[in-house]
Amino acid sequence: MKVHHLNCGTMRPFGGKLVDGKGSVFRRAELVCHCLLLETDDGLVLVDSGLGVDDVRRPAETLSRGWRRMSQPVLDENETAIRQVEAMGFTRDDVRHVVLTHLDLDHGGGLRDFPNAEVHVLREELDNALRPGKRGNDAVRYPDEQWSHGPKWVTHEPRGEAWFGFEGVREFRPDILLVPLFGHTHGHTGVAVNTDDGWLLHAGDAYFFHEEMSENPRCTPALTMMQTRVEQNRSLRLANQDRLRELKRTHGIDIVNAHDKTELTRHQLQPA
Ligand SMILES: [Zn+2]
Repeated sequence: MKVHHLNCGTMRPFGGKLVDGKGSVFRRAELVCHCLLLETDDGLVLVDSGLGVDDVRRPAETLSRGWRRMSQPVLDENETAIRQVEAMGFTRDDVRHVVLTHLDLDHGGGLRDFPNAEVHVLREELDNALRPGKRGNDAVRYPDEQWSHGPKWVTHEPRGEAWFGFEGVREFRPDILLVPLFGHTHGHTGVAVNTDDGWLLHAGDAYFFHEEMSENPRCTPALTMMQTRVEQNRSLRLANQDRLRELKRTHGIDIVNAHDKTELTRHQLQPA
């Protein structure tokens, strides 16, 4: 299976080093929306969808003012998944499946650009995102306009096999697994992909900074604050970070998160 590592939405928040750990505090930091495009024997599979064309063209309709102020998205249409898929010579209908780690606005924004794809998500995440009368964090993170076109939802229960010590793993295909990682949201999941080089786990927003997966884990102050501010369950979130470190240490599994540019660049530089 060929794996492409895409950035489907750059964010340039203030605070430089306090956010992404690089340079001075006076520069703009750089965060990405790290998505995977998988070329499988059943067409293309997109893991997370980043920001979509409508988010970029009319941000005020889906991206709250508070989120835009905090994240400072660049809003470049060429970064959307659909434009990158087209630039590779494919069409939107070649994307047969979209698998989402969760439905936050910077992960599900691209859904409208692939209206014919099946959209795979854990049931608990979808139930929570679609709940009428959402308030507080949930109202901001789950803008209904991003799925007003009626996606072809396929919900999965967090029940199934064990995978390297993780329970409740759902097999979407034998080589693409949903690995529940609750904490950031109610039904947040990792997506494990069996590549030619071994397993790759897209951990979504289970952690935000690459050094959180190192032997002596650390996170920048701003990303620590951000993760805490939007978490749904702290103890589950922190326990899952421990389990991910263990997964990397014991089994050498390649793990990436959704927003760290260092991890994205490292994978884009690897020969395909
Ligand atoms: Zn995110």
